[in-house]
Amino acid sequence: MVEQVKRAFKYRFYPTDEQAAELSRTFGCVRLVYNKALEERTRAWYGEQRRISYVQSSAALTQWKKTEELAFLTEVSSVPLQQALRHLQTAFAHFFAKRAQYPRFKSRKESRASAEYTRSAFTWRDGRLTLAKMAESLDVRWSRLLPEGVEPTTVTVSRDAAGRWFVSMLVEDAIAPAPATHAAVGLDAGITSLVTLSTGEKIANPRHERRDRARLARAQRELSRKAKGSANREKARRRVAKVHARIADRRRDFLHKLTSRIVHENQVVVIEDLTVRNLLKNGALARAISDASWSGLRMMLEYECVWYGRELVVIDSFFPSSKLCGSCGTVAAKLPLNVREWTCTCGAVHDRDVNAARNILAAGLAASACGDGVRPQRESSRTGRSSVKQEPQRATAGIPRL
Ligand SMILES: [Zn+2]
Repeated sequence: MVEQVKRAFKYRFYPTDEQAAELSRTFGCVRLVYNKALEERTRAWYGEQRRISYVQSSAALTQWKKTEELAFLTEVSSVPLQQALRHLQTAFAHFFAKRAQYPRFKSRKESRASAEYTRSAFTWRDGRLTLAKMAESLDVRWSRLLPEGVEPTTVTVSRDAAGRWFVSMLVEDAIAPAPATHAAVGLDAGITSLVTLSTGEKIANPRHERRDRARLARAQRELSRKAKGSANREKARRRVAKVHARIADRRRDFLHKLTSRIVHENQVVVIEDLTVRNLLKNGALARAISDASWSGLRMMLEYECVWYGRELVVIDSFFPSSKLCGSCGTVAAKLPLNVREWTCTCGAVHDRDVNAARNILAAGLAASACGDGVRPQRESSRTGRSSVKQEPQRATAGIPRL
């Protein structure tokens, strides 16, 4: 079966001065429309417990354009403005469904500015992309090819904190599933290594992370020395943003290669539902986990498994993956994070992470065979600490070998 999926392809581009000015103006208008509509909705909601719909916001926008002080809104393409109202609608839908916080105002200082163009507001012909209100096509660096024959449905233009311009093209694409395999793998999010596979393979954090971090620290020190409001400070701020952007790019690239390989080699991939937020509370883990980009990895696994017809099983973080002996099923009483290898009362010697990854795989396969995943527990029982207490313990001592 061929799966129809939406994929986004993001490229860097270099606007002419004219295009940059047009886009900056558009970003400003998008922000203004979003904030103004949010303000009206807020007034209606908190003042009168009344909800304003997208259609009402859209009608208001038409009125704003007719006023003298907001007439400039007609100078940019109307589509990104409409899209801003749609995004606001979505933000409120999430809020009302209790899935998200109350929508926030967009600040001029926000690091990323963007505008979204739907089909009527751009042309895509012979591999050239031209936006509404622009005479010339964008100078896009096609770093990878768009799949043959696809038509972009939405184009998002953005500028990041480092002043780099990007265009993201959303396309509907047909992906053939990857060749079938019976292999299955469990993944343990690591501390000393990024990921440990149930096969015993350990994937280290990319080497460049450390160097990049040093570079970042240096740039941040420079920034803190510059006088507020000075041109040099602005330059230093850009440099910090550039280092951040570079780290994010390299990490994404690394994770992408890793997940592609895992997904191609395995039919079933099992991971633990580690809420990053929970882990971050544990100070010592914070840096390792954020560097490890576990959440990024999970997100990539989620969509790549869909694309290639694989199964991703997410098991509960409550599951004692590290402390459970994969050989006899005994749960060790205590296993401090610094213990990398331990011996069970049954005599089995475990590498902490490999054992955890194998247990995760076993739990995932069991859950998958039952036809339902191991669901996350209630928030209150999620922390590792409480699971130690609640876990029935068949042996009192797992004797760690230091
Ligand atoms: Zn054992």
